[in-house]
Amino acid sequence: MTSQEADQQGPIVLILGAPGAGKGTQAKNISKALSIPAISTGAIFRQNMADGTELGNRAKAYMDAGEFVPDAVTNPMVKARLEAPDAQNGFLLDGYPRTIDQAYYLRDALAETGRDFDLVLEVSVDFDEVVERLLKRAEVEGRSDDTEPVIRHRLEVYHEQTEPMVTYYADQDKLVQIDGLGTVDEVWDRIYKVLDEHNLLPQN
Ligand code: ADP
Repeated sequence: MTSQEADQQGPIVLILGAPGAGKGTQAKNISKALSIPAISTGAIFRQNMADGTELGNRAKAYMDAGEFVPDAVTNPMVKARLEAPDAQNGFLLDGYPRTIDQAYYLRDALAETGRDFDLVLEVSVDFDEVVERLLKRAEVEGRSDDTEPVIRHRLEVYHEQTEPMVTYYADQDKLVQIDGLGTVDEVWDRIYKVLDEHNLLPQN
């Protein structure tokens, strides 16, 4: 498909980053700036846990251990979410894909409807900084997976499983790495500039 056709369907952006990199916060900013829904797999799982659904019950043990929820659960959930009416004019995916297998699954799911993504943002921060941020967040939000051993495990899993996937996107020339150090506004300025350079901001 031509890029013009892709534009008519609205932007598709992925945001990746280690736990604590601040992707959830920036996802909200991007969603607002581009008028697209931000779809966070972690948030969907947490909502399901809070509602006590079967999906939530299945995800809980994995999340509490800092492990990925199995693809057999995660992939169809994402696919169904991307078929919803509000995702037809672009969307932002936050926290998915996280493995190379999920990246292939997403590629195929998008291809089925003739779509492809426009941009992958990876927010990077150093290990000690994120541990500190997450421990602070634990005090505020009380997330059951924000304890120090689980945080450290989530960071290891990111390093082992998600970082190799980032290379897959870098090879496609759609990856932009963002320095996640600094205030929320400083990081947002960096992201905004990239969205602008990629002509993803709405024209008015
Ligand atoms: P963080 O990146 O800070 O750990 P998220 O909200 O993105 O926070 O994810 C929290 C947890 O939800 C993960 O540790 C994992 O158990 C589960 N999860 C989120 N996204 C995925 C995914 N794409 N595949 C498998 N599990 C996921």
